[in-house]
Amino acid sequence: MLTYIDPVYRPPSEADSLILQVTIGCSYNRCSFCAMYRSKRYEERSIEEIKADIDYAAKEYPNIKRVFLADGDALNLNSNTLVEILDYLRTSFPNLERVSSYAMPKNLLQKSVEELKMLREKGLKMLYIGIESGSDLILRKVTKGANTKGIIEGCKKAKDADIIISCMLILGLGGKKYSTLHAIESAKIINIIEPDYLAALTLYLDDSIKDEFCSKFEEQFEMLSDQDVLEELKVMVQNINNKRKIIFRVNHASNPYPLKALLPDEKEELLRKIDTLLKSPELYRPRFLRGF
Ligand code: SF4
Repeated sequence: MLTYIDPVYRPPSEADSLILQVTIGCSYNRCSFCAMYRSKRYEERSIEEIKADIDYAAKEYPNIKRVFLADGDALNLNSNTLVEILDYLRTSFPNLERVSSYAMPKNLLQKSVEELKMLREKGLKMLYIGIESGSDLILRKVTKGANTKGIIEGCKKAKDADIIISCMLILGLGGKKYSTLHAIESAKIINIIEPDYLAALTLYLDDSIKDEFCSKFEEQFEMLSDQDVLEELKVMVQNINNKRKIIFRVNHASNPYPLKALLPDEKEELLRKIDTLLKSPELYRPRFLRGF
């Protein structure tokens, strides 16, 4: 059997991938809005354990095409270990097309472009990077442990290594007070990074971290309503002026309504859809179905 230490998370687009847990938890684990790995202490699984999982999966699911390396920042592993895992995956799954993982900006900053290129050659073709906001003020208030300079530099290194990057933003992260700032600054950082994929989630605060989030925010935090979230999204999209194509998805379970667009080609159409939604709150997914 594959060994998993729960809870295990993966991006929605990795639904058909083999999830291989190579690290446990998140090496940072201090973002005030994130409760995903609070129950775990960061650990790296031994190469023997990882290979045993790969051997089992290769016997049970020999036709695997995609593998997602969990948990929160598998890219924190040193490059030699990652190469050993990637080599073993390629020899175990003859049809393997892509390996991906979450990455924090600090993981990327700690690796050279040459190391990232080597990982790309070995099969690590895609990284999911939580940038959350393009505002340094908000990143500080939510104790992200990264600033825009580091995020831009880290993403650039991944792109220079020809790795596909999927960046994530969190709608509502600045609350009502900083909603416009969050939207405009986030659009600005996207215009600089121009990721291959962009996903926008809606802020959800688990009960276990609400107090901590509010105290670290250091001032009154007012959550956005669904209407506010869509207004914020509208300002963000209005200010995204990318030249390189970005596949933009706002289809996470936390969002009021699933949306997607190819930017810039479908920008005006997306703005029209958001305007329609702003006039039709009856179309929003009920909050209880979104984990709120
Ligand atoms: S780096 Fe990612 S996984 Fe880790 S605490 Fe922050 S948001 Fe959560």
